Amino acid sequence: MYDAEGQYDGTPCPVCGAKESTIRWHFIEGFDEIECRACGFRSDEDHIAALHREALDTLEGDDDAPPPRTGPLRA
Ligand SMILES: [Zn+2]
Repeated sequence: MYDAEGQYDGTPCPVCGAKESTIRWHFIEGFDEIECRACGFRSDEDHIAALHREALDTLEGDDDAPPPRTGPLRA
């Protein structure tokens, strides 16, 4: 459960551009999310997806180092 206050402040939706249909939520944790009632856009979904990508990148990064080259060098 979030403690958030939503208000219509005329923020244009990044997807459909509607200004009258967006609600900006102010979270006490210190971030804002935008919800669009016209097209269903929610900025927190992108935020969560970005967090997941960062987590995956971190996990994959541990195994991403190329194997050391072994074998004879040829001139
Ligand atoms: Zn929209």
